[in-house]
Amino acid sequence: MTDTDLVIVGGGVMGLFTAYHASGLGRGVTVLERGRVGDPATASYGRTRSYRNDYLDPTYVRLAGEAIRLWDAFEAREDVRVLVRCGCLNIANAGVTPDLDATYARMSHRVLENLGMPTEALGAEEIRSRFPGLDADVGQLDAGAGVVDLAAVQEALTRVLAERGVRVLEGAPPSAIARGEHGFTVIAGDVRLTARSLVVTAGHGTNDVLARLSGCTLRVPIEKDRPSDARYFEPAPGERHRFTAGAMPVVAYLDAGIYCHPIVPGVVDAVKVGYYNPPDVPRGTTSIDSIDSFVERCFPALRGMTTSPVQDVDQCDYDLVADDDFVLGAIPGAANAFVGVGWRGTGYKFAPWVGRVLAELAVQAGTVYDIDRFDPARFQKGVARDAPVATDPATAAH
Ligand SMILES: Cc1cc2nc3c(=O)[nH]c(=O)nc-3n(C[C@H](O)[C@H](O)[C@H](O)COP(=O)(O)OP(=O)(O)OC[C@H]3O[C@@H](n4cnc5c(N)ncnc54)[C@H](O)[C@@H]3O)c2cc1C
Repeated sequence: MTDTDLVIVGGGVMGLFTAYHASGLGRGVTVLERGRVGDPATASYGRTRSYRNDYLDPTYVRLAGEAIRLWDAFEAREDVRVLVRCGCLNIANAGVTPDLDATYARMSHRVLENLGMPTEALGAEEIRSRFPGLDADVGQLDAGAGVVDLAAVQEALTRVLAERGVRVLEGAPPSAIARGEHGFTVIAGDVRLTARSLVVTAGHGTNDVLARLSGCTLRVPIEKDRPSDARYFEPAPGERHRFTAGAMPVVAYLDAGIYCHPIVPGVVDAVKVGYYNPPDVPRGTTSIDSIDSFVERCFPALRGMTTSPVQDVDQCDYDLVADDDFVLGAIPGAANAFVGVGWRGTGYKFAPWVGRVLAELAVQAGTVYDIDRFDPARFQKGVARDAPVATDPATAAH
């Protein structure tokens, strides 16, 4: 006799979307969260996250496209607006990265073109006329991109999960997870649950949870990292309209580790600029080594604005995984147990897809998607895999 069909450990966006899809399939679901859902100290809660298609690896392009289709479906089904469809402009400036053909903007444009995805190549003149205030020689516009409104996502998920009777227990990290003939017995404080299936979406807490699962020897090599700097830029009131979503897309110069999110009225009242140099991308290859030098060289319209550090949100870490690929699938040796982690700094946009995959695995014994590449078993002791091969700065962040 089981209390519930599925226990999910970890109430971030991946856990909640797993609960969303599993409950949508009519299953009983309980989510165990160590702290509280919506804590801005966790990766899933803040103001905005970018969503984009423009990866260098075609698999991630296809997955991002599928995830955006699932975001659209979520909006339509739950009658909410969570995507701010402002587009994403990847830029390059010849003074910063002289080999323009080898820049992220040009390379990702070629990948999207090869896959028949919509992408628009802009030259210097067109950039200056459409986005005055930016100084770039190359622009690749991914019109099907933008930012996600995180508060709107959390509000919608919380409402729908409550309507469907999903139990979300906060302050409830499991102390033991035993495996039996018919599933799992999970102890969390004075709560004792039995479930047919288990999903672990505990971010940086994943290995701690795996260690409590009886007989589980899987440990995922995840490390923490975070942007070196992130700042809000506040335009003068008369200038504000030039920097709101609609007038301004997400601007990314990934060769230089830079991303900018526009003002989204009611969500964030300043332009957010972040600087992050992933550990596997060589440093010092461009003259940009800070937000200030980026503004100076590429975004003169931001010069002279009042700035403040981003401190209200985003004080959390990316979950970098040793070989630069997602970790998604069955926990080796534990029937009906699954894990999802290692999203690096790029996971949020994939959340509806990740949730769907984990829900299908947990309650339908398989998924329609090909996820072999992400198999957690590659990190099981004794299973060899080649050393890290990280080449795509965008899989590292945003
Ligand atoms: C600063 C920053 C900027 C980012 N920007 C972008 C972006 O622009 N675009 C994008 O697509 N992605 C972005 N990301 C990545 C994205 O936010 C994450 O990939 C995503 O939120 C991860 O969700 P999660 O549910 O796996 O993890 P989390 O949000 O960390 O959730 C895991 C949950 O598990 C809980 N937990 C941990 N241990 C236990 C335990 N023992 N028992 C019970 N619960 C436990 C934690 O409390 C937490 O609530 C960014 C990440 C960061 C940090």
